[in-house]
Amino acid sequence: MTVMREDDIVTGGSMSVEESADRARDLLARYGHLQGISLIEPMVHEEFNGRITMTSSFGTEAAALLALVAEVDPNLPVIFLDTRKLFGETHRYREQLVDQLGLTNIRIMRPDETLLAAEDPKGMLFASDTNRCCFLRKVEPLQRALTGYDAWLTGRKRFHGGERGALPAIEAAGTRIKINPLAGYQRQDIEDIFENRALPRHPLEAEGYLSIGCMPCTDRAAPDSNDVRAGRWAGQDKTECGIHYII
Ligand code: SF4
Repeated sequence: MTVMREDDIVTGGSMSVEESADRARDLLARYGHLQGISLIEPMVHEEFNGRITMTSSFGTEAAALLALVAEVDPNLPVIFLDTRKLFGETHRYREQLVDQLGLTNIRIMRPDETLLAAEDPKGMLFASDTNRCCFLRKVEPLQRALTGYDAWLTGRKRFHGGERGALPAIEAAGTRIKINPLAGYQRQDIEDIFENRALPRHPLEAEGYLSIGCMPCTDRAAPDSNDVRAGRWAGQDKTECGIHYII
């Protein structure tokens, strides 16, 4: 999948691509057997102190990782990409979770207005070029937000399938390291985190949405669907927005 043009790519971590690959191998050897809070703790407080952030969509499963991170460090920077195409329910859910979990460092990133005016003046680019739309509304803002960080925590899980089926707990991502504390979690593990911590649900979950992104590109999924992300870019071969190709 081509998401970024060559001249779009910005490298921003303090490591070279080779150093990042070496660091990921070393971290994986020492911490790869850990997950959840056991993995988040040493990454936040020892390995990347002050140089680590996390991204969150504030979608249906997002509260699980947010809750674990809040228990380790409620002031950890949390990057939220406001594409300006999100459901109003997602914004309200974000406010509810931030309040309940005591998160104190939410970084709301929005698309570059100049780029939008030049390439998507009517806000309809999603209808003709979803990859470019995702670049303008997600990838570019995230590239800016990641400046100054060497590592980021993501909420991806292997059970989501597709490219995520072989997801390691720790991986090199260009000039940075990505930590995936929930990589090995199953759907029931996520449910347990919600129940044990009395976490609220995204209001659209009850309406049949299993995975929630932008309004134009998110559909309900069949009630018996095993594919959590089936409703994202339904009918297209696109399965990822491209933020995980950032280097
Ligand atoms: S998910 Fe759809 S609307 Fe959102 S940025 Fe990507 S193409 Fe655009």
